Amino acid sequence: MRKITIVGAGQAGLQLGLGLLGAGYDVSLVSNRTGEQIRSGRVMSSQCMFGAALATEAAAGLDFWPGCPPVEGIAFTVPGPDGTKMLDWSARLDTPARSVDQRVKIPAWLDEFTRRGGELVIADAGIADLERYAAGSDLVVVAAGKGEIASLFARDETRSPYDAPQRALALTYVTGLTPRAGHSAVCFNLIPGVGEYFVFPALTTTGPCEIMVFEGVPDGPMDCWQDVRTSAGHLARSKEILARFLPWEAERAADAELTDDNGILAGRFAPTVRRPVAVLPSGRAVLGLADAVVLNDPITGQGSNSAAKAAAGYLDSIVEHGKGDFDAAWMQAAFDRNWAYAAHVTAWTNAMLAPPPPHAFELLGAASQVPAIASRFVNGFDDPTDFANWFMDPDLAARYLREVQPVR
Ligand SMILES: Cc1cc2nc3c(=O)[nH]c(=O)nc-3n(C[C@H](O)[C@H](O)[C@H](O)COP(=O)(O)OP(=O)(O)OC[C@H]3O[C@@H](n4cnc5c(N)ncnc54)[C@H](O)[C@@H]3O)c2cc1C
Repeated sequence: MRKITIVGAGQAGLQLGLGLLGAGYDVSLVSNRTGEQIRSGRVMSSQCMFGAALATEAAAGLDFWPGCPPVEGIAFTVPGPDGTKMLDWSARLDTPARSVDQRVKIPAWLDEFTRRGGELVIADAGIADLERYAAGSDLVVVAAGKGEIASLFARDETRSPYDAPQRALALTYVTGLTPRAGHSAVCFNLIPGVGEYFVFPALTTTGPCEIMVFEGVPDGPMDCWQDVRTSAGHLARSKEILARFLPWEAERAADAELTDDNGILAGRFAPTVRRPVAVLPSGRAVLGLADAVVLNDPITGQGSNSAAKAAAGYLDSIVEHGKGDFDAAWMQAAFDRNWAYAAHVTAWTNAMLAPPPPHAFELLGAASQVPAIASRFVNGFDDPTDFANWFMDPDLAARYLREVQPVR
């Protein structure tokens, strides 16, 4: 039986590990935290996942939370200079999205991994460990997310336009928020020059909740978490931001309370694409997966989606390779196959971090008049490859607008 070792038990590492067990491989998974430590720890993500990524989980028999509150659409709002809504539209997702707190999902999947016969090793793997795993395995995959060990993979300058964080990030998990009128949605508020605020339903350790996501432009007024010392202070700061920039969201959040003291997060990181193959001092190669090698800002909510799709893609590449050697050339090819998709996610996400060019503003404005545009933008979150056909290019955008806008 072929032996595969995976370092990092997040969305990608676990999904790949469970998939490989199902395909008859001998799998070791190395996690630097136990399920209990993850469950009782701090939130890590807002992890909203769309239909195609959820389908990869379901295909691996990992759809354990059918009762998770659905996210049925995306609502897009831009406040004008006078503080009222300048743009305000919404559209339904063709397939509802879902967010299951990783503190719920990962411990359950870890249990499932051992139940299905996988070997779980609790260790904070370093280079010496990788050497040991590589000597005893046919393939080592590093799916360590933003963990230090990912720096083993060289930064790919050509694919990483930013060398510093582009947003100050914060999460606030709450209950008691007034539901959006109409269908449920990711309420996506874009405050020009200040940042973005998203809020949507989710399932956390205590049951249904709403997750607030703040994306502040560095050094701007939403980059304001450094002096917050307590969970209560974090909730208060969240409400202050809403009161200042988004009064309609402040109203919804007036009675919101934290789900738990660990339902908060603040931090920042630079979006980085790395080379997918690292060579250890012994000359053995290891392969990077998901955030470890393609780390995007959460502004487009793609990380877990991309991690799920990358895990499913690597599973196919491994199985199709049969008894072949998992050498560096095979590793590069497995990554390149995934990059054909991931490149679109990275390009769109990096574009959303920059001030929107005129054609993007025109499209987002026209979406309030033309439901087809709103629907295409919203469903692009499920398949970002489509943005290259209209949203990412001024000429294609102009052509698309001519096609869909009523003649005036
Ligand atoms: C604020 C925020 C909001 C987000 N919102 C969304 C969203 O709405 N939708 C979405 O799709 N994505 C979102 N993401 C991104 C998403 O959470 C990640 O992209 C996704 O979790 C990546 O999965 P992964 O398996 O690559 O890495 P991770 O989930 O980070 O898992 C890596 C695991 O490896 C472990 N590890 C690290 N180093 C080692 C080591 N040396 N040895 C052993 N174990 C190790 C870590 O502890 C971790 O458990 C968000 C991220 C942030 C920060």
